[in-house]
Amino acid sequence: TVKTRFAPSPTGYLHVGGARTALYCWLYAKKHQGKFILRIEDTDRERSTEESVQAIFDGMNWLGLQHDEGPYYQTDRFDRYKEQIDHLLESGHAYRCYCSKERLDALREEQQANKQNIGYDGHCRDLSEAEQDTTKPHVIRFKNPKEGKVVFNDLIKGEIAVSNSELDDLIIARTDGTPTYNFTVVVDDSDMNISHVIRGDDHVNNTPRQINMIKALGAEVPLYAHVPMILGDDGKRLSKRHGAVSVMQYRDQGYLPQAMLNYLVRLGWSHGDQEVFSKEEMVELFDLKDVNRAPSAFNTEKLNWLNQHYMKTLPVEEVVSHLEWHIEQAGIDTSKGPDIKELIPVMADRVKTLKELVGAVSYFYQEFDEFDAKAAKKHLRPVAKEPLETIKQKLTEQNDWSADNLHKLVSATADELEIGMGKVGMPLRVAVTGSGMSPDLGITLQWVGKERALQRIDRALN
Ligand code: GLU
Repeated sequence: TVKTRFAPSPTGYLHVGGARTALYCWLYAKKHQGKFILRIEDTDRERSTEESVQAIFDGMNWLGLQHDEGPYYQTDRFDRYKEQIDHLLESGHAYRCYCSKERLDALREEQQANKQNIGYDGHCRDLSEAEQDTTKPHVIRFKNPKEGKVVFNDLIKGEIAVSNSELDDLIIARTDGTPTYNFTVVVDDSDMNISHVIRGDDHVNNTPRQINMIKALGAEVPLYAHVPMILGDDGKRLSKRHGAVSVMQYRDQGYLPQAMLNYLVRLGWSHGDQEVFSKEEMVELFDLKDVNRAPSAFNTEKLNWLNQHYMKTLPVEEVVSHLEWHIEQAGIDTSKGPDIKELIPVMADRVKTLKELVGAVSYFYQEFDEFDAKAAKKHLRPVAKEPLETIKQKLTEQNDWSADNLHKLVSATADELEIGMGKVGMPLRVAVTGSGMSPDLGITLQWVGKERALQRIDRALN
């Protein structure tokens, strides 16, 4: 059975690359009715934080990537790592290394001078028991095979072969006995019966060593798929410099999780020229063999396009559930104004994000501070007195405050004054919304409400 894992180190937020890896792992497991495991790789106690763990959970929840097993924490598993280190020592697959820092530094310098990159030279590899005093400080190293090569068929990159002569003997336990990163991954992947290791290709160089260690533990070697990295629009590796990289920052900026997921799945994977995928379709169609071998470039315009698409096409209640959060963040009280459900079909064409949407509707619920200077200069000042007074009069008498009627009323007023619709509509729009942009005037007036509309026209006239 298929078992995948997402194994983040909690040393920051959940970034876009991590989220995409998590999505691919999740999709692959779902597609094969397998299991998706979440494993928190928190052995680096200095850099791991509770907040980062929480940020990972938040990001995964927001994207709806539920794990079937876990979360496991590596810091809960030190006894197990110790057990497996002892096991490798006993079976002759690991050894104690007593080399001093001075010796290792000298070795490194010598290699640098000779432009070599051999790593540890195996000085302690064959020490007999008699030659050892185990009370002396030491690390434990994995005894990497000297002959042959490690070959694996990466499910994205194809066959990768590395000669064992290029792999030095890795430290698996530090002087204080704590296990190192590559070793804990190996123990976990085998204990957790991971069938497919899907991860970023920054780990591809670790894989041959990990395979050797898994074999030494007598465990089955999983399949590997290394996902190419994500580049910013300047062709450099995506980083903070490119704006938001944390998944939750995208939520904050007003993206829907559905759009983000759709964006992430396409960032490095394709299915013909299809752009829009529901989660169900992703599960059905995703395959590792269709993941690009080349890095992918982040493209905010495409994300915007998808976000707008989902605002327009998702069931309104679903969009509302996310919109509510943004409205709350903006501190807007929506009790006096249109039901926010009604905003979505009208506004989705006009904005790219929920945050933009909130910014564009606040005047339906609360007073605006001042008129947009440009719009006011163009349409109000010097005040469009006659049209505004005329329309004010008509609106005062208007009892049926429905969008259709209000729209008709505005055009009838323009006819009556023998001026263009814009000459009435624009001053009115700026007066009641503070800006030169709003939905159709009928709807705008309906939503602003009669009392508020009249007050605002007065404000513009004064
Ligand atoms: N903890 C590693 C990281 O966050 C991932 C290790 C793995 O997937 O094997 O980069």
